[in-house]
Amino acid sequence: MPIKPVHGGDPIPLDSPGDVATLVGHLERRDRQPAWLGDHFAFLAGTRPDRFRPFQETVVVDDHLPRWEVSYDDQCVLLAGASDRCVETLAGRLRKRWSFYDAMALAAIGTDAARVVIADLVRGGADREEFESSGVWVPPTGPAELRFTSERRAVLLELGDFPGADNPVGLPLADVVREPASSPVVWHYASLRLSEIPGLPKFGAGRAHLVAPASGCMWTLFADVGTDDRYENEQVDYEDGPDEDYAAGSPEFGVGRAVLRPYGPDLIYTNGHIQSTPGVVGVAGGPPIGLYPNPVCPSCTRLMFHVTTVENYIREHGDGFRSLYLCEDCEKIAVTATGWN
Ligand SMILES: [Zn+2]
Repeated sequence: MPIKPVHGGDPIPLDSPGDVATLVGHLERRDRQPAWLGDHFAFLAGTRPDRFRPFQETVVVDDHLPRWEVSYDDQCVLLAGASDRCVETLAGRLRKRWSFYDAMALAAIGTDAARVVIADLVRGGADREEFESSGVWVPPTGPAELRFTSERRAVLLELGDFPGADNPVGLPLADVVREPASSPVVWHYASLRLSEIPGLPKFGAGRAHLVAPASGCMWTLFADVGTDDRYENEQVDYEDGPDEDYAAGSPEFGVGRAVLRPYGPDLIYTNGHIQSTPGVVGVAGGPPIGLYPNPVCPSCTRLMFHVTTVENYIREHGDGFRSLYLCEDCEKIAVTATGWN
């Protein structure tokens, strides 16, 4: 069974619409732990989100959200396209009393109606950053924009020698930055072929690179992308300044490749994520992890579009998550380093 409840307890099958009704019944009666339920909902999001559709209104309108322990990226799958009745209910509740759960559900629904409500709420004084950290941008006019794809791919690391790999892990710096000698970039994690992530905006470069400066702390790196996909004009905002101990000595190159795979029953769903699946080191597509401010494009100030978030295990350098973003208007990328949550 690909569901491994984080605090133990046997999982129940989710093979039929009736099984899903049984699961939602547990949520309504509150007779199982929220985390146990949450791992089942994560599985449903990864395998058969269509079977949850009849229960969107149950969870949202009957207000089970505070006990619905489902990560934001799974909510974005399960609540996508929920009815205007859901949107109106959330809008009404939020106008009376602010609730993180209601705000995130509104973002996860993501319909035209939901995005108009979000824009109205932010322009009326609601916390813009709360939405931005979840990948939702409110422009000066018009509805809010979702700056992430609806589809996700599991990112798996395969070790070995793969010359000419689409998504190589461990490239020489000269392959990914124009001026390696003067660049703050000292490390390459992986490069991803952007066409393998459905739903990304049109971007000039064919591949984008997850790279790092010499630092073990939090930082954000911005770069322009040249016509040969190499980075130029790299700039790093460090939380604590650079740390030469993190400069690469003589790293080994060509350590492996990243493979992007659709979600399905072959992944392991535990603690609200798929990272316990052997080989999985991250997720491509979907929203950012939602705990840190997302980068804003330094050229046009639009919230940047989330591409992928991987763990440092993809190629050891620093600790925590590494996320890649792009601005399709300015052909700019950002890579961020954040700690474990
Ligand atoms: Zn821009």
